[in-house]
Amino acid sequence: MKNQPVSKVVIVGGGTAGWMVAAVLSKVMGGLPGFSIELVESEAIGTVGVGEATIPQIVSFNRLLGVDEMDFVRETHATYKLGIEFVDWVREGHSYIHPFGSFGIDMLGIEFRHFWLRGQEFGAGEPIDRYSIAAMAAKAGRFDWPRPDRPRSPISRLAYAFQFDAGRYAQFLRRIAGEAGVCRVEGEVVEIAQDPETGFVSGLKLASGSEIHGELFIDCSGFRSLLLGRTLGVPFIDWSNWLPCDSAVAVPCALGGRNEPLTRSTARPAGWQWRIPLQHRIGNGHVFASDHMDREQATAILLENLDGEVLAEPRHLSFTAGRRARAWEKNVVALGLSAGFLEPLESTSIHLVQSGIARLLTLFPDNDFSELEIARFNSETEKEYRDIRDFLVLHYKASEREDTEFWRYCRNLEAPAGLAEKIAMFRSSGRIFREDNELFTEESWTAVMLGQGLAPGRYHPTARLLDRTETLARLQHIREAIAGTVSQMPTQDKFLRRQGGAIKTPGTAM
Ligand code: FAD
Repeated sequence: MKNQPVSKVVIVGGGTAGWMVAAVLSKVMGGLPGFSIELVESEAIGTVGVGEATIPQIVSFNRLLGVDEMDFVRETHATYKLGIEFVDWVREGHSYIHPFGSFGIDMLGIEFRHFWLRGQEFGAGEPIDRYSIAAMAAKAGRFDWPRPDRPRSPISRLAYAFQFDAGRYAQFLRRIAGEAGVCRVEGEVVEIAQDPETGFVSGLKLASGSEIHGELFIDCSGFRSLLLGRTLGVPFIDWSNWLPCDSAVAVPCALGGRNEPLTRSTARPAGWQWRIPLQHRIGNGHVFASDHMDREQATAILLENLDGEVLAEPRHLSFTAGRRARAWEKNVVALGLSAGFLEPLESTSIHLVQSGIARLLTLFPDNDFSELEIARFNSETEKEYRDIRDFLVLHYKASEREDTEFWRYCRNLEAPAGLAEKIAMFRSSGRIFREDNELFTEESWTAVMLGQGLAPGRYHPTARLLDRTETLARLQHIREAIAGTVSQMPTQDKFLRRQGGAIKTPGTAM
């Protein structure tokens, strides 16, 4: 019978994407009569096993699941994240932070950055980081929860995310999904059956010979894209002309160096290196373009730049930047790496899974699988990938580096049209427009555009309503309010111990 709610969902893959969608669907829809979810995964194939830094939207995801934050932090050995520090991206020796949350306060109806630009004209040389509570707290190694009940304090607007152990996160979600009734099947999918008339996927055959049938199939099979790519043949749109990095080598190391609540990205001759400090170790990786560097050299650079003893063999991964032309085709919805991949420069992949789940919930199908709803899902997904791509390309395009062929390529590449317009607009007037609720806010664009050294030719005329003395006094007041608030915040270490999120006994260093 048509127009009946889908009641049997099959998820292929038990990586972060598979368990995230299993946990949410079971939580939100598990109570519907006859509704069931089966998740098939293969331990022999394994998961990608990286993906440890997130953005603030993860906090809402945890809330939706009804997760206690400290349980989550302890079980995943998580730390807090207040932004990303970009080191050597503009030129060697330079660094800036892309913090979460906002800069300063908007005044006279215009954004704070215009007053900051005016202040620069009057000789206020402090970087814009000084006007962000997240950036200043991160540098000081401090953390506290935001206090919306204190609207006049900078802490009211603090935004945060987490850095966690990917393996532990999958286990954490798996437990939640299991408790909500998701049935896990271990085994390798070796054959996929399709309806001969419609091409819809009707079932999966496992290596053991057993079969799984369903109505809606969620492809979380990782880079293999088993259902969407391999079976339904949805083409991959390659964006490597804009994002030429296609390889990564990842290795954990023991704790060492400074452990701020911050992810660090350090530019390297043919890519960049990540550093994600957790409670029990540091996750590190080197993302690079194989056209410009071989894996031995990339591994050597990574191993030379660690803050602690190496804890495992380096792992190599290959990928292509881009996305599947359609994330939803027939009765298959792809989430995670099977839908596309954009390098982890702004920690957006887990968020893309999260927003894909939200979209799927909004457009959850009947068994007639309305083309209209599928088209909506696909156009929103496409836009989201495109917006994020443009934000990532900005980091490369706006670099001053010319010391290697890789950086010369990046500097000279032709920016996608939307990004080119954004850069031109910012350069001429300091104006930024957030298109159709795109993921990155004006504040994020401000952080990276100014951080990468783009200099606006002018600022909003309204900023002139404040004269020199008033402008400098207000800027100083904001800096002092932020510095004063940060000095009252506990260190992250202390915060975790006090709130019960620390994995070690009180008194030990994280
Ligand atoms: P996988 O983890 O690859 O899971 C695929 C699943 O499918 C596995 O369970 C596998 O066993 C199963 N499977 C595949 N084929 C079959 C089959 N035939 N039969 C049965 N099961 C099968 N994201 C962030 O948000 N932040 C980051 O900091 C970040 N860093 C990253 C760094 C790198 C180098 C890379 C490559 C990615 C990074 N990501 C990051 C992305 C993030 O890791 C992924 O988005 C996330 O882990 C989701 O992966 P997945 O579940 O789609 O795929």
